Amino acid sequence: MLTRSYPRYLGRFAPSPTGPLHYGSLVTAVASYLQAKSQNGDWLIRIEDIDPPREQAGATNSILRTLHDYGFRSGSKPIFQKKQFKNYIYHAQRLIKLNHAYACECSRKDLALISSHGSMGAIYPGTCANKNLAPSPDFSIRARCRHSEIRFSDAVYGDQCTNLGKESGDFVILRRDYLPSYILAVSIDDANERYTEVVRGYDLLAITPRQIHLTKLLGRKPPNFMHIPIITNDQGEKLSKQTHAPALNKSHARIMLYNALIDLGQEPPKFLQWRSVMSIWDWAVMNWRPELIPAAPSIPYRL
Ligand SMILES: [Zn+2]
Repeated sequence: MLTRSYPRYLGRFAPSPTGPLHYGSLVTAVASYLQAKSQNGDWLIRIEDIDPPREQAGATNSILRTLHDYGFRSGSKPIFQKKQFKNYIYHAQRLIKLNHAYACECSRKDLALISSHGSMGAIYPGTCANKNLAPSPDFSIRARCRHSEIRFSDAVYGDQCTNLGKESGDFVILRRDYLPSYILAVSIDDANERYTEVVRGYDLLAITPRQIHLTKLLGRKPPNFMHIPIITNDQGEKLSKQTHAPALNKSHARIMLYNALIDLGQEPPKFLQWRSVMSIWDWAVMNWRPELIPAAPSIPYRL
């Protein structure tokens, strides 16, 4: 028997429990699921619940139920980021010991005065980089970038090149009071859970160079990346709980899945929208062509 020396495809869908699932997150879930299933791989659900003030009671159960109603199947139980808190702090402390990270005492006011602006937001000039401050709950922790040039090829948007030193500067991995930043949590989890590819919305393409850099500082190999267009409302805003995106309804599963395939550039036959949810999935897995996904930043939501 042949032994496979390459890792089996493992992908994930990682919603935040800030509200029920909406069409924008469905499109991302569909793309990540089809990337995995079409390669006979595995697909996991990770609930990104590290920001309790933004969470909505019952949202986790509602998201999991909707995914099930829409025919998504995972061979594993969902993973919860909240359980990893100690792990995030452990890794941040380890990065400090390795001199890959340091404590920063700058207040918001200081930062507004000293930062310039680049494509990734405020650029930190490295004010505290050599102060050797002892970590404390009053300080944030930043990862060093120096002159790191990050190159990677996105499966939809192609070759990317960012000079993190110039575009971002040393970035926060732990906020005050030891609260992990999104970039720290996602980098550690994606490495530990051993995804071969991360599929997510275009809005996260800009932070991907930071994730790649941080993953390398952690001594791990970054996954491959596929970003897909985000779905926007009439005002051009990303569909989200904040922009009052309507919750997905079980009775609309077939038409919503059918629309998601169209928005992902696939060409499902018209009759498919009247078939069962499972027939739609059978067709989609068999006929999935990621090269047809439009490389546009966003797609307007059609009702
Ligand atoms: Zn500072």
